Amino acid sequence: MNWIANFVRPRIKSLMGSGARAETPENLWKKCSSCGEMIFHRDLAVAQNVCPQCGFHMRITPVERFAAIFDSSVFEELPYPEVPSDPLKFRGEKRYADELKSSRTKTARNEALTAARGTIEGMPVMIAVQPFDFLGGSLSMGVGEGIVTAIEAAVAEKRPFILFVSSGGARMQEGILSLMQLPRATIAVDMLHEAGLPYIVVLTDPTYGGVSASYAMLGDIQIAEPGAQIGFAGPRVIAQTIRERLPEGFQRAEYLLEHGMIDMVAHRHELRPTLAKLTHLTMKRSRPRARPVAVPPVVTATATRVVVPSAPPVAGSTAAE
Ligand SMILES: [Zn+2]
Repeated sequence: MNWIANFVRPRIKSLMGSGARAETPENLWKKCSSCGEMIFHRDLAVAQNVCPQCGFHMRITPVERFAAIFDSSVFEELPYPEVPSDPLKFRGEKRYADELKSSRTKTARNEALTAARGTIEGMPVMIAVQPFDFLGGSLSMGVGEGIVTAIEAAVAEKRPFILFVSSGGARMQEGILSLMQLPRATIAVDMLHEAGLPYIVVLTDPTYGGVSASYAMLGDIQIAEPGAQIGFAGPRVIAQTIRERLPEGFQRAEYLLEHGMIDMVAHRHELRPTLAKLTHLTMKRSRPRARPVAVPPVVTATATRVVVPSAPPVAGSTAAE
């Protein structure tokens, strides 16, 4: 028995072990946090991070968002504006400078706002994405400056401005300098109005705090993804303050739609055709001749690798691009 235990078994293990490990990295399957279904990473990428089982909208990175919305997944990212980093030399439980550094390493992005220019069904647009994965999508000087510069570029290039937002609110580590970005962004939105350009906001899960109390709610058209939680203070705080049970679905996108706070709830797969329709309508430009809507191309990790979902070829569709 000894030679089996000491020689054969380790040998088999070493032969199987390395290969098996290489082929099954942990992130190949993702568990849906809503229904618990295990989803293969490629299926999830094709579905734009929407659970195929229950329709739960998981979070999505700016690059994945750009790739899903822009024509042929082609876009040009705007450079991140330079702002003073950690102006207050803030230190909470951790040093803010360290938190910034680790978020930058983790996301490979400079700030919680990435903007890009491109086209939707031929309409030139500017899109900014404020993602939750970078310090909770919190509003900092960098985010404020990013919004202002992206809007300035949109005005100069006469492009509609679309904001995909998700945020916990102001970035407390930047104190008053963060709060100052709220009126700055609001004034920038006014520049769009003066130029006669539409400002469309897509609220994604979750959008809270100062951000939801200012520019995230100032859209000419307010869209929300299904199930997104949107509010100012969180439901637990409200329930504790008013000492009452909150209604079913409180602060969810559908509840807000029912109560007139937003204009529409759009499934992630419907966002591209919806935004195409809205931008063409508001810019008073006719769309290319009506045609069957091609399934938007989906990226797996970066926009350089485009996977076109297999759809029956339709004459005049863009699926072959
Ligand atoms: Zn699910």
